[in-house]
Amino acid sequence: MNIARLKSQPEIFYSLQGEGPRCGTPAVFLRLAGCNLHCSWCDTRYSWAPGCELGVDEVAARLLSYGCPSVVITGGEPLLQAGELERLLALLPPDFYIEVETNGTLPPTPALAERVNQWNVSPKLAHSGNSPEQALCPAALAAFVATGRAWFKFVVQSEHDWPAIAALSLPQQRLILMPCATTRAELAAARPGVAALCLQHRVRLGDRLHISLWNDEKGV
Ligand code: SF4
Repeated sequence: MNIARLKSQPEIFYSLQGEGPRCGTPAVFLRLAGCNLHCSWCDTRYSWAPGCELGVDEVAARLLSYGCPSVVITGGEPLLQAGELERLLALLPPDFYIEVETNGTLPPTPALAERVNQWNVSPKLAHSGNSPEQALCPAALAAFVATGRAWFKFVVQSEHDWPAIAALSLPQQRLILMPCATTRAELAAARPGVAALCLQHRVRLGDRLHISLWNDEKGV
């Protein structure tokens, strides 16, 4: 499978989950290369390029070497490599907790829907610079809802983003709004406005713990 390359190495590292309902949980991170969107504020643009090719056996061995039974698979867009992902997850112990971060444009395969414990789906709004036709796929989003294991995280720039979120008719108790930020300073500035929007619409505020802890450093 093709792994994002960071500092000449495949990006596999041990850290704390920084977003979503398991924020703060220790996990091993695997960042896959390639994305079908091009968000203007993407903080992992290096993942768009072809990365390091590693066999699934090698990737599984690296994930297991940390002794941590929680794995976060991110990208890029991991579902572009759905077949390799199925083969990788088959090599991990059944009690491993698997989270997948996805932009929600590609539906999960049946095997992935069965195995993945938690989908962190992050549909991209107009301020990402992607067209709605590219970024918002109702059929794929419905497939994630049907798993019963999906959360929907929206990067929010202003209160004007809410109508587009509401129009998707996703389960309200599974919505998370997150400030648009890549640095501590941006996060601190954006957080109060997003908190107010969450209170207004009774949805969850998602912080971005990794930015609070490590600012814009990558691979941590
Ligand atoms: S979907 Fe994610 S990885 Fe892809 S361009 Fe957007 S922010 Fe970057």
